[in-house]
Amino acid sequence: MRITSVEPVLLKGDDAYRASAGGEEATDNGDWQLLVRVATDEGLEGWADVETLGPAAVTIISGPGMGVTGFKALGELLIGEDPRHVERLWDKLYVGSAYYGRRGIAMQCISAIDNCLWSIRAQAAGVSLATLLGGARRDRVTAYASTLFRETPEGMAQAARDYVEKGFKAVKFGWGVFGEDSGRDRELVAAAREALGPDRDLLVDPGWYPAGWKNPPPLSGPMRSRRDAIALCEWLADYGVGWVEDFIHPERFDEYAQVRAVSPTPVAAGEQVATVWEFERFIRSGCVDVIQPDLSRCGGVTVAKQVAALAMEEGVDFVPHSWLTHLLTAYSLQVIATLPRARFVEFNVSQSGLTRGVCAGTPFTLQSDGTVAIPDAPGIGAEVDTDFIKAHRIN
Ligand SMILES: [Mg+2]
Repeated sequence: MRITSVEPVLLKGDDAYRASAGGEEATDNGDWQLLVRVATDEGLEGWADVETLGPAAVTIISGPGMGVTGFKALGELLIGEDPRHVERLWDKLYVGSAYYGRRGIAMQCISAIDNCLWSIRAQAAGVSLATLLGGARRDRVTAYASTLFRETPEGMAQAARDYVEKGFKAVKFGWGVFGEDSGRDRELVAAAREALGPDRDLLVDPGWYPAGWKNPPPLSGPMRSRRDAIALCEWLADYGVGWVEDFIHPERFDEYAQVRAVSPTPVAAGEQVATVWEFERFIRSGCVDVIQPDLSRCGGVTVAKQVAALAMEEGVDFVPHSWLTHLLTAYSLQVIATLPRARFVEFNVSQSGLTRGVCAGTPFTLQSDGTVAIPDAPGIGAEVDTDFIKAHRIN
């Protein structure tokens, strides 16, 4: 089998990223979405979503590269290759783009391509990706509703009650107005805890941007000091928060380790971390209780399975970050199926029209016990809606 095309597919929608004021649902990135499609001469194809700057990624995947290794466009490195040689091809993509890449947009594109290759390899073998990765240890996993902070305690309570009503056993609130006013932060978390009751998990993602989240963000101003970060972890423990996420500048590994060492609230992070080398430093330095690689950013399934092994060695939980289309949910579920210990799948309840429309039908729904079933069909268990993609494609 040979790869015949590696195609960036750029979609445009008309929703804007938006944290809502009251109980109504927030919206994720609804203006741009990049997908990658890898096609083969035997008719099999893989699709993946990427969270990145789409227009630049299109050039990195399909633009003309330069003649020298290290400056290649990613697509040209793959044409004619056997898509089943996934891990060798990961190395080829990494080295082929090393002068401009290694992290950022290039690594996000490599992640999507890697995911497509794993999907094709599973389809070619006639098994689920989980089977290919060593076999599923479970057929369902608890889902947490993942959304943005509302602006008022009443809005938080209403939103939390709605998730309970839908059957969720765990909810994560992130970003939004959190960080602008510490008194209000506490009221928002208290309202969510009260509405969820004592036994459902409440997770908090304060964000790490300077001076809280504004749209547009100020990109300057006071970052959280170490003392502030520790104080935050301490008061979140008053509300039994299950983890505090991604609240320190992602380059500051030492600070993560120091805060985590004294935090009464478990620390989760890793969605901004990429490559096994960076994850190894992050995990071995004691930065987290819960590692959260995003399969559309970390280097794809190839890196995620290495990180899962590291997490097991170090005794930390592995819960992939997945707040995008249900293609990312699908890849994440397949990896989660194989873990010796799996707590959650992150379930994006804030999908815009654009992110929601990418997958055909409703690939994943919440069961009455608060879990999502993990598909056992060949490949990843989710299909794209080609009509929707055609209607929203702009490149
Ligand atoms: Mg986060």
